[in-house]
Amino acid sequence: MMIRWAILLSIATGACSATTSPAPMGQTQASAIHANNPYYSRTDTAHLAVGDAEWKRILPGDVYQVARHAATERAFTGEYWDFEGVGTYYCAVCGNALFRSDAKFASSCGWPSFYQALRPNSVRYREDRSHGMVRTEVLCGRCDSHLGHIFDDGPPPTGKRFCMNSIVLDFVPGT
Ligand SMILES: [Zn+2]
Repeated sequence: MMIRWAILLSIATGACSATTSPAPMGQTQASAIHANNPYYSRTDTAHLAVGDAEWKRILPGDVYQVARHAATERAFTGEYWDFEGVGTYYCAVCGNALFRSDAKFASSCGWPSFYQALRPNSVRYREDRSHGMVRTEVLCGRCDSHLGHIFDDGPPPTGKRFCMNSIVLDFVPGT
């Protein structure tokens, strides 16, 4: 009898854990990490106005600190700084398409670097006077998350260097 109960219990537990984190509606490509993020969409481009407390509740702590409080991941530690996969980079917070891999270039700075955004309105810009410097901050055009900064020392054709934090990027392979 004891054994039977144990088996029933393990089946019930397994079934439960398999259904506690369903993929959000209409986002079949979103990975499981976004299952609890109802704002994540790779197709919806409508601007999001979500409060800090809500993002803090939804996002993993390290993503939240970079995306919502402009923290910077340590150089040479991110997943994509020397990554050369072919595909598209999306905002890890909201799913907005940000960069194509063909605009990525090898940079010695230790962060993934791109010379142009996928669409002009994929990102927006804001003056950043923190840390005694005047820099241009790059924000996600859909959810306003901090992505990194842009500098004027990039390669042709734009001469720009979008210096991004890997942790706020989602890479999806494909051509
Ligand atoms: Zn975003």
